[in-house]
Amino acid sequence: MSEQNHDTPLGLDTLAVREALPRTQYGENSEALFLTSSFVHPDAATAAARFAGEQDGFVYSRFSNPTVSSYERRLAALEGAEGCMATGSGMAAILLLAMATLKAGDHVVCSQGVFGSTINLFGRELARFGIDTTFVSQTDVAQWAAALRPKTRLLFAETPSNPLTEICDIAALADLAHGAGAELVVDNCFCSPALQRPLALGADWVIHSGTKYLDGQGRVIAGAVCGRAGSIHDKLLPVQRTVGMSLSPFNAWVVLKGMETLGVRMAAHSVAALDMAQWLQEHPAVERVFYPGLESHPQHALAMRQQKTGGAVLSFELKAADAHQARARAFHVIDQTRVCSITANLGDTKTTITHPSTTTHGRLREEQRQAAGIGQGLIRLAVGLEDLADLKRDLARGLDTLN
Ligand SMILES: *Cc1c(COP(=O)(O)O)cnc(C)c1O
Repeated sequence: MSEQNHDTPLGLDTLAVREALPRTQYGENSEALFLTSSFVHPDAATAAARFAGEQDGFVYSRFSNPTVSSYERRLAALEGAEGCMATGSGMAAILLLAMATLKAGDHVVCSQGVFGSTINLFGRELARFGIDTTFVSQTDVAQWAAALRPKTRLLFAETPSNPLTEICDIAALADLAHGAGAELVVDNCFCSPALQRPLALGADWVIHSGTKYLDGQGRVIAGAVCGRAGSIHDKLLPVQRTVGMSLSPFNAWVVLKGMETLGVRMAAHSVAALDMAQWLQEHPAVERVFYPGLESHPQHALAMRQQKTGGAVLSFELKAADAHQARARAFHVIDQTRVCSITANLGDTKTTITHPSTTTHGRLREEQRQAAGIGQGLIRLAVGLEDLADLKRDLARGLDTLN
């Protein structure tokens, strides 16, 4: 925290606005954007000391930049982490962590409910380098336990899951990992630290796609790994210096500003999503709504212990006689919207509407989709910050005109 000493720890909303590197000599109130690839040293001896890591100082923006450092400090503070390393995307964050903590022959246990690219990264790309991954149930801790091997190094969870909002028990998985000499990684994109702090529940690492709620306005791609300062310095920094999955200072600055409103946005998203979930649950065309904030959610109690609110993302299944009718009905509801954005992205002020079985989960075979519970009548909504009455009218236009 710049220039101040505080006896009591600062709250999340204060940290989100204030935590950053100290101001420069110009006294700027809004954090500066340092668009520079390299940094100048006062003399050769200082350059040598900085290159050797014997003296602090910025050298080259592939691995350190003041704007990126402010982004890292702010996000670390929000997650209650000792350290953070920024990356160019959320996927780069997962790859950086994997490169820094795994080697050929190691084993990973991963939820089968994680982001599709994460499944491909572990199941396909890292498999080519001799890292073996077992995919297990999102909700059944016994399956995670049964998958452990002597060479298991990481357990990888994402909670709530997309699109069915199934919850992983973070504390239980952390105990399991530590008992097996492994570490727990949690992808915290959906909740953000405003709603869920996995490190406080025992996780060792937190992954972020800054692209989602940290920016919150759908502008840039960004990522980060949060964890212990020593592990970040000793394991991640040397890899990042070499491989350069770096975050651009411009994108860091955009997300740094986005984080300032994280608390109020997540609170507003959550209020709207809960109201929308309750409204959809009452609609005669809707078979079922999936939202952790609803009492009808099978893991509502766990979700409310682990998260502050249900978050912004929900999905709902339309009533239909068969898969063919279900898809036609889902397409009708989506196509009747005029306010919602038809896109697979989320984490935006703009409400997004998605048909998972033909987009985000389109590459799965039908039986895999059935096993995952992602039917043709399922629609995902990432509720934005528009007027809720407008959003309900937007959905009712299609829901009220199904044949
Ligand atoms: C989007 C997303 C990612 C990947 O982040 P990018 O910034 O798009 O690389 C990872 N995990 C989850 C849960 C996501 O939603």
